[in-house]
Amino acid sequence: MAKSVLITGITGQDGAYLARLLLEKNYAVHGLIARRGSDTLWRLRELGIEGRVRLINGDVTDLSSLVRALEQSKAEEVYNLAAQSFVATSWEQPLLTAQATGVSVVNILEAIRLTSPESRFYQASTSEMFGLIQAECQDEKTPFYPRSPYGVAKLFGHWTTINYRESFKIHASSGILFNHESPLRGLEFVTRKVTDAVARIKLGKQKELRLGNLDARRDWGFAGDYVEAMWRMLQQDVPGDYVIATGRTTTVRDFCRLAFAQADLDYEKHVVVDPKFYRPAEVDVLMGNPAKAKTELGWQAKTSLEQLVAMMVEADLKRVRRE
Ligand code: NDP
Ligand code: GDP
Repeated sequence: MAKSVLITGITGQDGAYLARLLLEKNYAVHGLIARRGSDTLWRLRELGIEGRVRLINGDVTDLSSLVRALEQSKAEEVYNLAAQSFVATSWEQPLLTAQATGVSVVNILEAIRLTSPESRFYQASTSEMFGLIQAECQDEKTPFYPRSPYGVAKLFGHWTTINYRESFKIHASSGILFNHESPLRGLEFVTRKVTDAVARIKLGKQKELRLGNLDARRDWGFAGDYVEAMWRMLQQDVPGDYVIATGRTTTVRDFCRLAFAQADLDYEKHVVVDPKFYRPAEVDVLMGNPAKAKTELGWQAKTSLEQLVAMMVEADLKRVRRE
C-alpha cells in the first residue's frame, strides 16, 4: 500500500515541490490547506499536480484541525512547512508570526503525540536562526542569534522539535535550510522580486526596481534540490538536525547583476535603493556548511546560482509575456 504523508504549507513554494517529489515516489499525498479569501493553489497547478493531492481543511494554529488531519490522512510522515515565512512581515505582525511560525510546532507535535506517535516529523527550521552570525560558516554546532520575530519564532519551533524527540522519542528531525528559491518563490522575497522586475523591464512594462540593502549576503540554493533533503532526513533510522546549504554566499547586488545580465540588461541602470525596504535589524551574511548532510544523507545541492537565476528569469519572462 502507498505510504501516506501530510504536508502543512502545501500551497507554498516548498510544499508544491515536496508534494511533486513524494507523488513521484508513489506516496498518498495529503495537504493541510488554510481557509483564504484568494486562490492559493497556483503553485500546485503550475506543477500539474493540483488534482493529485488530497487537501484537508485546517490551520496550524488550531490543534483540533491537526488532530483531524492526522486521523484522516493516517500519515506516516508529517512535513511541517506552514509558517508566516516572510521576515519583513514578522515585525509588522509579531504575534501572528509567533503563533503561526512558533507555537504551531507545539500544536503539530502534540497532535502527533496524542494520535500517531509513530509518525515521523520534519520541521522547517531556517538559517535565519543564526542571524547575527557567530561563525563565518554556519553548521549544526554554531550558536543561534536570531534577528527578527520570524527568527525567534523559528528557534522556538526548532528547540520544541528537539525537545519532543528527547522527551517522547518521536522521530522528529529539523532541517536548517538556507535560503532557497525557484520560479515558484513568493514575489515578496528579494530573488523573485528581482527576476519578476527583470522580465517586466525587458518587456517594457516597468522602468525601475526599488530595493533595500544591496550588501546583504545569502547562501541561495534551488528549492527543488532542497525538498529532496527533507525526504532523506525522514528515511534515516535516527532523527537529527541538518544544515542544508550550498556553501557559497552572494550579495543581493550580485544577484541583481546576474539576473539583469540574463536578459542583457545592466542592473545599475534600473535598481534604485529605497530605505523603505531596510529592516529594523538585518542579517548581514549567511553561509552554510552542508558537510553533515553530505556524509549522512548523501545530499548536496545540484543547481548552481547561475542556473537558478537563469531558470527564474526565463520563467518570469514567459509569465509576463502571457499577461
Ligand atoms: P511559503 O511562504 O511559500 O509557504 C508558506 C505556507 O504556509 C503556505 O502554504 C501558507 O498557506 C502556509 N500557512 C501560513 N500560515 C498558515 C496557517 N496558520 N495554517 C496553515 N498553513 C499556513 O514558504 P516556503 O515554501 O518558502 O517555505 C516553507 C517553510 O520553510 C516555511 O516554514 C519557511 O519559513 C521555511 N523556510 C523557508 C526557507 C526558504 O528560503 N524558502 C528557508 C528556511 C526555512 P497559504 O498559501 O494559504 O498562505
Ligand atoms: P530572508 O533572508 O528570508 O529575509 O529573504 P529575503 O529574500 O526577504 O531577503 C534577503 C535579503 O535581501 C535581506 O537581507 C533583505 O534585507 C535584502 N533585501 C534588499 N532589498 C530587498 C527587498 O526589496 N525585498 C526583500 N524581501 N529583501 C530585500
